[in-house]
Order: sequence, then structure tokens, then C-alpha cells
Amino acid sequence: MYHISDCKKYSRCARLFVLENAQEKQEYRPYVRLDEEITLLAAEKLGVTHCFKGERGDSAEKALEAMKSEEWLLKARFEYRNLRVKIPFLHQNGDGWDVYFLFAGLYPRADDLQFYCNTAWVLAGNGINVKNWYVIHLNASYVRGETLDPNALFVISRNFYNSKGNPSVPVGETILRNMRDLSGDLAAMDRCLHEEIPAPVRTNACTGRTKCRHYNECFEEEKRQDDNSIVHLIGAQHRYAMMREGRTRLRDADPARIEGSRQQFAQIIADGTENGLFADRMALHAWLEDITYPVTFLDFEWERFAVPPYPGMKPYDVLPFEYSIDILHENGERDHKVFLSVGDDRLELAENLVKDIPRVGTVIAYNAEGAEKIRIRELAALFPKLREELLDINERMEDLQLPFESGTVYDVRMRGQWSLKMIMSMMDDPGYHDLDIQQGMDAVFQWRYLDLDGDIENKEEIIENLKAYCGMDSYAMTVVYEWLRKIDSSPVS
Ligand code: SF4
Repeated sequence: MYHISDCKKYSRCARLFVLENAQEKQEYRPYVRLDEEITLLAAEKLGVTHCFKGERGDSAEKALEAMKSEEWLLKARFEYRNLRVKIPFLHQNGDGWDVYFLFAGLYPRADDLQFYCNTAWVLAGNGINVKNWYVIHLNASYVRGETLDPNALFVISRNFYNSKGNPSVPVGETILRNMRDLSGDLAAMDRCLHEEIPAPVRTNACTGRTKCRHYNECFEEEKRQDDNSIVHLIGAQHRYAMMREGRTRLRDADPARIEGSRQQFAQIIADGTENGLFADRMALHAWLEDITYPVTFLDFEWERFAVPPYPGMKPYDVLPFEYSIDILHENGERDHKVFLSVGDDRLELAENLVKDIPRVGTVIAYNAEGAEKIRIRELAALFPKLREELLDINERMEDLQLPFESGTVYDVRMRGQWSLKMIMSMMDDPGYHDLDIQQGMDAVFQWRYLDLDGDIENKEEIIENLKAYCGMDSYAMTVVYEWLRKIDSSPVS
């Protein structure tokens, strides 16, 4: 028996489908937290009181039988030609049925059409006459009050949305126009599972919207490539083609077949230097010159919620729960401060933040524009009394990522990446190696345990690990910053 997720994997890559099929199901840890039973909340919006509620493992006949007597069906399971689907809501409408897909995001787009069309194909195969098609989704402009209002939390739409969040094509017509017979695909999937695992072929499916989680095992040789291999040329569409032609190093890149970005330029020059380092000394010096003491290095950790858990939050808003600060004084002295809380401590966090960050000097964050500045603006909007002080922090904030993402500095050991961890790994410092938490999302998952269960056995250990991880981010920034200072002050060769 297949599910729609299997069809999606197969159409992305036959090898992916086979590999995933052979693996044991792993625990699913969503990036975005969804504590509520979203189907039940949506049921309130739809005014469902009595209904048939389907469950995992239900026979295909059970829902068909329920359709004879029930007005509403929730999570009903249907099967056709070995494909099993779950319909969030079915509502009887005269001699037919209305389908409500449930989308736990803000703007359902027609680019995930395969999911909707495959579901429709199974319903058609069961002879179900669908009169209307809707998508019920989270309302981007809903702001939670003291209690959650399911009626305002959701929007029922007859249309998909475009990339600007405006209604676009109609759900029903689009599905029916694109629905196709899946029998051939399902038969091919069957065959695939009985044949040898298909060989890996590099396509957009490997690194497109999200990098395939089998990428490293499929292209193991990439990990073994030298630091100055052309495969690390950032954003270069033809890098593999050039590699196959024997242009194996960054400096071998064919000028006619690169995009010509500043980063690529920095990479190619770096590969031609003795120590593999390129620095646009003037640009770097100008950036560093604007930084004044005391220099504060700031890092936040936060959790994102699909359904707003606290007043003032919208769907998919984030809740900052931790910050770490390292302060470098002009005389070489250093301070380190960490704030960590569970639950909703946004006010306390904001109050401590304005207290902990010196009133003068530059504040530095890594990816400041995409993260810390946004968090601070959100806090400023929430707490008008702290607004001025919070926005002043933003006024003084510089982004440590800038010298790297702008191609001002490139070291071949960066291997085409400029994450803080990657750059820190080049430093003569143990850095993140000894930490129990290794990734930002691990930190979020650990905090999630803590937040969901305050009596968790290893609470103290988790708190220490979270402090160490976030503390390492702010510390790592000091190390990278001092490295940039060293490059700036080293004699020009
Ligand atoms: S990395 Fe590419 S070839 Fe390998 S399984 Fe994923 S999509 Fe398929």
C-alpha cells in the first residue's frame, strides 16, 4: 500500500523512493511546533459537531460505510489501486460531497498540486461525486488574544495563492484539470522496489527547494573533494560540467561559464594565493572602521509556532527563549551573559536585553538582517516602553556575515559555505566540537522538551547544554571578528 508521500518521493527521484522505502520510519521532529490538534481546531471553524472520525489502520470500507449515514467525515481513509489517502474533511452536500483540504500553513500554493490531484484521483476512483473543493488554512493576519479563536485563526478558500499571497487559480478547477491516471506510476513504483536500487543521478531534485537527505551518501565523493575543488564554486551552474572537462580547481573555472558574482571572484582569487585566502583589504578595513568599543556579540535562539500560543502572536510567529552576549572591551576585558527561559518570558527577555547590552558601542550578530534585527523589532512592537532602547540596539547593529557573503573575504577552507560554524572550524579553537548540542535545531528540540515538560528528568543538563550552545555562537563571533582584525592588520604581501 502506498501513500501520497510515496508518490511524491517517486516523482522526485526513483532512488529516493527506494532508499526511503527500505529505511525504518524515523521519528518526525517538525521544525515548526504544532502542539494543538489542528484538525479539531479547523473542525470548530467549520462548525462540525457530530462526525465520523477516521483513524490510522482503518479499512478502506469503513469511511465508505460512514458516508451512508454521516454528514461530516474527518480524516477519512480511502484507497484506490493500492494508493491510500486521508481526507481532512468531507461534508455531505445534497447528492455529492464537499472536500476541505487542511493546510497548516499560511498560503496554499498550486505548486504542491500533486498532493491534491492524487487525492482527487483516489476519490474519483471510489466514485465519490465532489461538488466543491476548498482549502482551509491558517490566517496570516490573525493576532491571538488571551484565548485562541479558531474562527479567526482559519480562512476557508476556494483558491490557491500566488507567491505574493494573493488568491490565484481556483482549487477545484485546477485539480480537475491536472488530475491524471496514476496506475502507470504505481505499477512503476512496484517494479522499482523489486529491482536494483537506481544509481544516483545529480539533478535539481538533489539540491532544489530542499537538499535531499541522502545527498551525502549519493555523492560521497563530494565530501572528499579538496577545499579548492571547483565543486565548491558558489552558485555556479556549470561547475560539474567543468569538473568533468578536467577543470578541477577553483582557479580553473572557465570565465565564460561562471555567473561572475563577487563571491566567485573571491573564491577564484583565493585559490591562486599562497595561503588560499582572499581579502578585499579596502572593503574589509572600511567595514571594521565603523565598529566601536565596547563590541557586543549577540545571538538569539527561538522556537517557531504554527498556531500562536501566546497573546500578541500570529501564526508562524517565533518566540525567542534565549540570548547569549559576549562583550569585548577596548582594554581587552570580556563579559559573557546568557538569558534562558521557558514559556512566555518575552518581557523579561527584552528587559534583560536592554540591561545587558551596553548603551554605547557596536552590536554584532551573524545574519543580523535575517534574524536578530527582526527579533528585536518584534520585541519593540510588543513592548512600547522598551521600544526606544530596543531599536537603538538595532541602529548600532552590524552583520558579521557581510564580509563573507559579499565576497570581501574568502578562505578556501570555507568550501563554498559561510556559516558561522564553517568559519569557526577553520580557527585554531575547539569551538563547537565538545558541545552536546551541535545544531541550532537541536537546541530548539532540546528546549521543546523543557518547555513541554517542566519536570523533565535531565532538566539541568538541558539548560546547561543550551547555555553552552548559544554561548558558543556569541563566542565564535568574537573569534571570527578577531580573525578579520588580524587579516586587516597583517602586512600586505
Ligand atoms: S541525492 Fe539526488 S540522486 Fe540521491 S536520492 Fe536524493 S534526489 Fe535521488
